[in-house]
Amino acid sequence: MTESLTPIPLTAAPAEAVLDGLDAEQRQAAATLTGPLCILAGAGTGKTRAITHRIAYGVRTGTYDPHRVLAVTFTARAAAEMRSRLTGLGAPGVQARTFHAAALRQLQYFWPLTVGGTLPQLVDHKVKILGEAARRLRLTTDRASLRDFASEIEWAKVSTLTPEGYLARAASRPEPAGVQHQAFAKLYQAYEDLKQDRHLMDFEDVLLFTVAMLESDERVAAQVRQQYRHFVVDEYQDVSPLQQRLLDLWLGGREELCVVGDAAQTIYSFTGATPDYLLNFRRRFPQAEVVKLVRDYRSTPQVVKLANVLLADRKPGGSAPWAEPLQLISQRQAGPTPQITQHADDDAEAAWIAAQITDLRDAGMPLSEMAVLYRTNGQSQAFEQALASAGISYQLRGSERFFSRREVREAMAALRTSSLVNEQEPVPDSVRAVLSSLGWSRDAPTSTGAVRERWESLAALVALADQLAAERENFSLRDFLAELDERSAAQHAPTVEGVTLASLHSAKGLEWDAVFLAGLCEGLMPITFAKEQQEIDEERRLFYVGITRARTHLFLSSASARHSGGRGKRTPSRFLIPLRKELGLEPAARQIAPSSGRTNPNNSKRKRAVSCLGCGEVLVKGAEVGRRRCANCPPRYEEAVFEQLRQWRLDYAKELEVPAFMVFSDATLEVIAEKLPSTDEELLEIPGIGEKKLQVHGQRLKDALSELGESSSVSSR
Ligand code: ATP
Ligand code: MG
Repeated sequence: MTESLTPIPLTAAPAEAVLDGLDAEQRQAAATLTGPLCILAGAGTGKTRAITHRIAYGVRTGTYDPHRVLAVTFTARAAAEMRSRLTGLGAPGVQARTFHAAALRQLQYFWPLTVGGTLPQLVDHKVKILGEAARRLRLTTDRASLRDFASEIEWAKVSTLTPEGYLARAASRPEPAGVQHQAFAKLYQAYEDLKQDRHLMDFEDVLLFTVAMLESDERVAAQVRQQYRHFVVDEYQDVSPLQQRLLDLWLGGREELCVVGDAAQTIYSFTGATPDYLLNFRRRFPQAEVVKLVRDYRSTPQVVKLANVLLADRKPGGSAPWAEPLQLISQRQAGPTPQITQHADDDAEAAWIAAQITDLRDAGMPLSEMAVLYRTNGQSQAFEQALASAGISYQLRGSERFFSRREVREAMAALRTSSLVNEQEPVPDSVRAVLSSLGWSRDAPTSTGAVRERWESLAALVALADQLAAERENFSLRDFLAELDERSAAQHAPTVEGVTLASLHSAKGLEWDAVFLAGLCEGLMPITFAKEQQEIDEERRLFYVGITRARTHLFLSSASARHSGGRGKRTPSRFLIPLRKELGLEPAARQIAPSSGRTNPNNSKRKRAVSCLGCGEVLVKGAEVGRRRCANCPPRYEEAVFEQLRQWRLDYAKELEVPAFMVFSDATLEVIAEKLPSTDEELLEIPGIGEKKLQVHGQRLKDALSELGESSSVSSR
């Protein structure tokens, strides 16, 4: 391997260098390389950072053989993130996988040796087979019922319950789709039988089969245990009894286990996961080291405050993990006030979000630092459409399956053919030429759906070619293909320079500078089917996960109606009530009249949607657009004062060489224009101005305000 192909910056530095950049508690965790270890801490406190540094430290001190470490997490995205952090720290070669992926690999390897024959084929969806089973038993087969059956079977399987076992535990569970437990247990059995007859397996079977294999075959167990010595589990609050059993089998009585988690982020209980294993870790391993982290390095005090308020507002007397949520303490400088807005309908909400994203981008924030998160995948369409219309690229699908996409496989095949004949041209040029024939073009298509997704994938390959060609000397098309093969083997997708669109569940563990939490209305957040208190609690935790993804900018939005021109029947999420109060906002209007006759903002490609500074609704009437306020939200300050302040902010921001919104947000400026504060105490009362802002900008603002007072009559107010 040549020098230029070794992208590891730290290898020459002493191993201790890996511990730099950790605080005392994180360092304690990272330096505890052997024995059971539990890191119990809130969002953004550096749990993942501590364990990745711990692994790297272990590898670089020679305590760990990188190939003998297995790091497990719950989403493929998080696993990819961990792999790239480890490579960056000079510890490549460590396996970072989801439970599922790790188990599937072992199953694929050992099945032919133990069971013999081919591994059953994996089915993505249970509904089809379940439909057949239900028909045979003359049970209801409508889609909604089938989905309920599927979730109940998933719960039973991850709880390691057979159909009989299920019956013994079923009394405490509601009847799935109104079907008696006895009949459901029969359905569960019929489903299992059908699946087996057809040589198929479902998602849970992957873990169940692996468990069975390790339990029944000592040689396999010994071989797996020989392979892996050190185990690390991130997001341990979401482990299911089935995953725990697998983990125990991997450990085989050894204690080289490090777990990390936050009970307040438990968001998979509906699938049978439980934070009990995390919270009772000490009971199981009495000699375990337990490290607690409280400093939040990710988010601004403004974001952290809302996260704390959301948890504090939970109903007391709920389930165990709620006993005492950790209060996060932000380590970051003050940032902009989070915004809560309400829009007429889904399209208007999406257009508003696209407009904010455009503003942030124009102010210099990379698109890859922004994310729009929603409760259900079905919500993504409106955002895809709005972003496409605004010419903003986005990344919709999880990064995990990038190399399985058809267009990517086709592109790699075409590049391979081309590499045989073409070695002269610079790599980026060859890649562009080859991919053009497959549907890549310089500008993104404005359509959504398959064409757009295809383009996004190809554009990601082009961007990767550009990046690598810039980084490496004598970079050839063959090198590029070798890199793609390597990444494909590691399922490591190139980062697409685009906004991330993702469900809240899949955003766990990740972070962005700007986060939009969209569709925050009753029915979506909490979701309609959350009825019991503990289900509502889980929705609250999911919302908490969402808020704590934001580093600096946080936007919380909802829409009153689904369709343009529809009746505004939706109510904003109950979880927003304490947050509005915290931000000093009036309680939300229950309904906003739909804006009649409004043209669909998606049709006018370049036209930026302007929304009301008061409620965030997209404005259509000329006068309202000019004032940036709807008729329901008259300004409470003098327009001229606000304008002068805006001008001052612009000049001042230029002087500081920062985007204007980094000084004060529009919302903060409005309140300043309204209250015209003159003392530090008064300034601190303004949302968006904390000690830090006061210290940095306070004097200049006061000067500007007093100048303003002298030049007009406003001082008399
Ligand atoms: P989550 O609960 O959401 O998974 P986490 O506890 O795993 O969060 P990390 O993702 O490890 O938190 O860290 C959050 C952010 O804070 C990251 O950007 C990380 O680099 C940064 N960070 C963590 N610890 C420190 C530190 N000691 N100094 C500077 N930055 C830090
Ligand atoms: Mg984490």
